[in-house]
Amino acid sequence: MGTMEQLSPAASTVPAARAGAILRIDLDAIRANYRLLRDQAGPAACAGVMKADAYGLGMDQVAPALVREGCRVFFTAHVDEGLRLRAMVPADATIYVLHGPPPCATREFIEHGLVPVLNDPGQLADWRAAAREVRRMLPAAIQFDTGMSRMGLAPADLQAVLGDAALLDGIQPVLAMSHLACADEPAHPLNALQCERFRSGLDQLRARFPGLAGSLANSSGIFLNGAFHHQLARPGAALYGIHPQPGNGPNPLRQPVSLAARIVQTRTVQAGDIVGYGAHFTATAPTRIATISIGYADGWLRSLSCRGHAFIDGVRVPFVGNVSMDSITLDVSGLPEARVAPGQAVELLGAHQSVDDVAREAGTIGYEVLTGLGSRFHRSYLGGS
Ligand SMILES: *Cc1c(COP(=O)(O)O)cnc(C)c1O
Repeated sequence: MGTMEQLSPAASTVPAARAGAILRIDLDAIRANYRLLRDQAGPAACAGVMKADAYGLGMDQVAPALVREGCRVFFTAHVDEGLRLRAMVPADATIYVLHGPPPCATREFIEHGLVPVLNDPGQLADWRAAAREVRRMLPAAIQFDTGMSRMGLAPADLQAVLGDAALLDGIQPVLAMSHLACADEPAHPLNALQCERFRSGLDQLRARFPGLAGSLANSSGIFLNGAFHHQLARPGAALYGIHPQPGNGPNPLRQPVSLAARIVQTRTVQAGDIVGYGAHFTATAPTRIATISIGYADGWLRSLSCRGHAFIDGVRVPFVGNVSMDSITLDVSGLPEARVAPGQAVELLGAHQSVDDVAREAGTIGYEVLTGLGSRFHRSYLGGS
């Protein structure tokens, strides 16, 4: 309590003393990010997107932290993620399942109060059949495509639904939604097009379902303008510190994740010696090499070979050679011997390097770095209560 730092290990985690790397997740930073996003999206409500184990950070810890911040609407991708989440949130919280109901799982949806996002005529038919079977109206979100061509009713299918009341027999739409393809690029012309298509589809649905709530904005969409907000925003990435608009000034969000790996071995190589698989690095002078206990099996991508960086006491040290499954080699020639001894910790994520920084060097996006974080770390959670 008070100002005491609360550091609690996750249920299934490697003991800190012998873990190759330590992942710390600051739940108070995630809560602060939620408040910022909710304020930015207001007066629209703000959901929390929990898919892929809360983007790799742990739904069991993140969901209760958001509940304490007042969040009452959640999204998962899969039904089993929704079932797991159900046990962690209040009974009155709404859990939407983005991929909709597989026909074999309609019972689970109904019994556990999960709300499916219906994406195509087949899912509409399955949900109608489920409603007939239980002889009552069943709630659902209706997703329609506005230009991403990934999920949601195609324009012709939406028109069919609007023209034939029977297609929603037994279904009570509680949300109309669509998803933005390019919201992280504010100037992209698709944003305005999707915005207008969504408004038009929503208006048409409201002619039959007055007051139906709409939801269009993901994290990045929240930072476009108010026309994108409607009644519910659905941020995921920004909760976890990813910059919602990388080309647009400093990141307004806090960084909840830090990761430190241990040095396993240090050695000095001579000019002409090679380092790592494939011999992609050859020393040109005596070089101090430190091998750290993290590799691509832990989500530290192989594309960072000869390109990535770590930090020791704020000093930037380059990866040399290829990233291995369980280890990475660093050039630590610039550091005092005592600071690069076995057992010493090296920063991979933290004050000097963000998830977005790593993603840029790896040629990917922060989403992939976070959701790829491995299972061999010691994980500890800070704050949250
Ligand atoms: C993943 C997802 C989100 C969250 O997107 P972020 O960019 O992580 O904020 C919102 N809506 C849908 C449909 C999604 O698939």
